[in-house]
Amino acid sequence: MSQKGAIQSMAVKTALAARALLTIGCLCLLWMATGIAVAQTPVQTASVASARMMPEPARIGAARLGDHGDKTRFVLELTREAPFTILPDASGVAVEMEAALDAALPPAKGLVKSVSVRPGAKAGHLRLILATTGPARVQLAEIIPPRDGMPPRFVMDLAAGKAGPGAVLTPASASMMSPPVPKEKPKPPLPMIVIDPGHGGQDPGAVAVSGAYEKDITLAMAKEVRRQLLATGRYRVALTRDKDVFIPLRDRPALARAKGADLFISLHADSITGRQVRGLSIYTLSEKASDREAEMLAQRENQSDAIVGMDLSVQSADIANILIGMSQRDTMNQSRRFASLVLKNLDPNVAVLPGPLRSAGFAVLTAPDVPAILVEMGYLSHSQDAKLLGSETHRRRMAGSLLRAVDSYFGVGR
Ligand SMILES: [Zn+2]
Repeated sequence: MSQKGAIQSMAVKTALAARALLTIGCLCLLWMATGIAVAQTPVQTASVASARMMPEPARIGAARLGDHGDKTRFVLELTREAPFTILPDASGVAVEMEAALDAALPPAKGLVKSVSVRPGAKAGHLRLILATTGPARVQLAEIIPPRDGMPPRFVMDLAAGKAGPGAVLTPASASMMSPPVPKEKPKPPLPMIVIDPGHGGQDPGAVAVSGAYEKDITLAMAKEVRRQLLATGRYRVALTRDKDVFIPLRDRPALARAKGADLFISLHADSITGRQVRGLSIYTLSEKASDREAEMLAQRENQSDAIVGMDLSVQSADIANILIGMSQRDTMNQSRRFASLVLKNLDPNVAVLPGPLRSAGFAVLTAPDVPAILVEMGYLSHSQDAKLLGSETHRRRMAGSLLRAVDSYFGVGR
């Protein structure tokens, strides 16, 4: 039997076994210990649906990598749950899946130095190859069913180091693999939320009618949001600044990426002269502003770097470039979804601007792979908003609203 034949034969066996698994509703990894020494090929497989039952192939609408420090997560958003097999590859690890690719492949991140695609062993299958920076093992590979408006997702966690029991081996060590030891599925890392208090240092931001600075209001709010998020035990939280220092706009999304952020929330408070406007509004990134007011606001917020003499001309080019990427489209969808959830979960005591969901070219929202929103919490030029934004009760309400939105985004909590 040729090696290819062996692979296909294995695939049939594993598909049958996987179908048996499906009947007990288990999406856990399935071990094919017998196949490993023989073929050194499909070491693990899991399947959630039979192709016969679903003639339309699944489509991959988005593909992304996340660096979570001790592991690198590979995520595929699918139009429906699809069978897959994890295979060792000379360059790292491969995912064979019965699916078609509609998304751009993500750039290098964490342990993965490149992702490429080629046709799979069978018609209608594709093989995604994740070349790794060194020996890597698969800690987890599973299909997450659709929930909370999220499509079904394939999730695979890669960790550095030689494989042991319960992990996929790199080809070099595959022949040494021992039978699996049943063990608990490793816990995925807690989602990382990066909170960005607007302005700071030489850049005070807007000045309230009360004399308070936007930079102090945003910092106090960010700390309260951090406190509430951490208190749940469900998240990791980082602040772009936790004291009164100046941070250039472009460093803020960069910090979010470095932290492996799953969400980025920039906090601001606006000010406008000559008009009695009040209420909260939420912004996502777009090249073309949703309206004139959003465009003007983005211009005001993007001025931050000019205050310390930094060049602003690169910003608009950056925004345009980032928007070209297809992976960004997925990030933008997620950003918009999160923005809607913030609005939906908002405390009824928080005043809202008419048409509160808007978009414009905010420099601070340009991490291409981190869903991001900017919240203008109210108008410091309005006496009532200014008073509320300085009050602890209001801060708690506002932070509580954001916590509910984050919970809702990740499909946890209440
Ligand atoms: Zn601001």
